[in-house]
Amino acid sequence: MDKRFAPTTGTVLPRFAGIATFMRLPWLQEGDALLEEVDIGLVGIPWDGGTTNRAGARHGPRQLRDLSTLVRNVNRASGINPFALCNCADLGDAPVNPVDLDDTLARVERFLAAIHARGIAPLCAGGDHLVTLPVMRAIARGRPVGMVHFDAHTDTWDRYFGDAMFTHGTPFRRAIEEGLLDPRRTVQIGIRGALYRDAEDDWGERQGITIIDIDEMKRLGVEETIRRARAIVGDGPTYASFDVDFLDPVYAPGTGTPEIGGATTWEAQQLVRGLRGLDLVGGDVVEVSPPFDASGNTALVGATMMFEILCVLAEARHARRRR
Ligand code: MN
Ligand code: MN
Repeated sequence: MDKRFAPTTGTVLPRFAGIATFMRLPWLQEGDALLEEVDIGLVGIPWDGGTTNRAGARHGPRQLRDLSTLVRNVNRASGINPFALCNCADLGDAPVNPVDLDDTLARVERFLAAIHARGIAPLCAGGDHLVTLPVMRAIARGRPVGMVHFDAHTDTWDRYFGDAMFTHGTPFRRAIEEGLLDPRRTVQIGIRGALYRDAEDDWGERQGITIIDIDEMKRLGVEETIRRARAIVGDGPTYASFDVDFLDPVYAPGTGTPEIGGATTWEAQQLVRGLRGLDLVGGDVVEVSPPFDASGNTALVGATMMFEILCVLAEARHARRRR
């Protein structure tokens, strides 16, 4: 492990002390020479202008940083220490414009494109789910990615309120239309909740997306769900997007569009661990909305899921470097 990238250990500085960065990693800004050596960048995207109902996810990154200080280095289940495999750093928050959607999409894309140009894989913390679109624009142009998508919602709607094309309900429709996301290599897990109208999921399925809704997921169980998801995304570059509303609101009440009858935190951890060995190129945890869970429990869940994704991403990144 490169000591300069080691998370501050809780045996020297207690984990409740000091300035909160993602997982107690060093915080690097543009201009820092150490940036050249970063493999994985943890990035906040504090923006919720795509939210159609209960706003608040703009406050996600700050609370996620705070609660991520509870995370330790080694994943007990897999034995993976992501910080030993890769140089990880907190790259701060992407610049956003709280009152301008188009400007925000452009700013976030530019920020992530600069990270991508350095060969750094992003692990982002939203923000509402629309923030995944500019991330994909930055990393998937000319190289469409597959995706394992954990969510109560498909986020493949077309428009909202007439002609609004960009909301947290539309990112994956836009990503497919823009050639960033390969629908035949996309699986959406945990989908549930009432619809505005029947056959709402049809567009995505017609494009080739596979939906494993929550009932099917529970019926199949964790292992078979993993097996199917892996078969769908295959060996190609793959993005992991984790909307915290995938979880039942008893585990994650702090989110904008909760849906009951969701996954447990245990199931979520098992499923992400099951992505080991895939060619992950980036990921995110989105829709953590602190105003709806002042206890911070939802952010703890979100930060821990970031760690689970980081473990798989670090192993993939390490494997990529060696081949
Ligand atoms: Mn979503
Ligand atoms: Mn959702």
